[in-house]
Amino acid sequence: MTPQQDRGGSVFPLADTHKRYNTYDAWLKSTFGGKCAKIPLDAGFTCPNMDGKCGVGGCIYCSGRGSGDFAESPVVPLREQYDRQRELLAKKWPTERCIPYFQARTNTYAPVDVLRPLFEEALTWPAVVGMSIATRADCLPEDTVALLRELSERTVLTVELGLQTVHDRTAALINRGHTYADFLEGYNRLRAGAPRVLVCVHLIFGLPDETEEDMLETVRRVAELRPHQVKLHLLHVLRGTVLGEMYGAGKYTPMEKDAYVETVVKALELLPPDTVIARLTGDGAAQDLLAPAWSRRKREVLNAIDKGLAARDTWQGRKYQR
Ligand code: SF4
Repeated sequence: MTPQQDRGGSVFPLADTHKRYNTYDAWLKSTFGGKCAKIPLDAGFTCPNMDGKCGVGGCIYCSGRGSGDFAESPVVPLREQYDRQRELLAKKWPTERCIPYFQARTNTYAPVDVLRPLFEEALTWPAVVGMSIATRADCLPEDTVALLRELSERTVLTVELGLQTVHDRTAALINRGHTYADFLEGYNRLRAGAPRVLVCVHLIFGLPDETEEDMLETVRRVAELRPHQVKLHLLHVLRGTVLGEMYGAGKYTPMEKDAYVETVVKALELLPPDTVIARLTGDGAAQDLLAPAWSRRKREVLNAIDKGLAARDTWQGRKYQR
């Protein structure tokens, strides 16, 4: 029996739309009562993979703003960043519910006495209903986990962890600066020490030299970890990055749209049905995007994923094995 038959019309049991996966919007609705604006912030952190602690130069695809391309400049005070972004986003979808998103680079890469006032302050801003903090699993020492646990007892706190791949040879190739074992150590410390924190794992498809089977193996291993949320990204080639140079020299070929869609469909089948899918495409800054051009048409990509799931009459979790 498909979820559609099972639920008398709803295609996927946990989505409130025609989607065949557990959507972030449905999660927002069930958690906060409706759509929320996620407000990207740049608190001026650096990254251990940039400052020499575990690497220099950063990941080969990193723009230097560490996925914070939509956040304001770090020289703008955080509250001002929040107010400005909130105003901008209000034009797209007016909402009184906001989630400050510490997005740029590694947002737990500082001592707890530096982190605490930043996070505490954000909780006092108007319309805040939760908080998201993006970081690396190798930047989660015990005292930081204790701080995150405290915060999670006062708000809906999501910690977003970049993993990208479970394959150490790829991690070395992209200059990730940590292994899968390093990731697991931090991930397990966070889950055990801060059980109310919602953990979102980021993965990238299309990393150099990875086959579809490599990507799906990453998904299988992450499925075993049962994260609360997963973000699937397409690898973007951005101007000014090492990957951009590789692309220019013909040493990297980005994924084709059909291959990406096919991989995402298979990945969704492997993920646990209750894992929230927080993203299904990447999001590079348009002015710096060198390739692939098709990734600019995000709506088209999402529609193709919906069609791919429907054409196979499949859905998130169909092949998930506990
Ligand atoms: S971990 Fe993130 S911020 Fe650090 S270099 Fe890689 S992509 Fe950039």
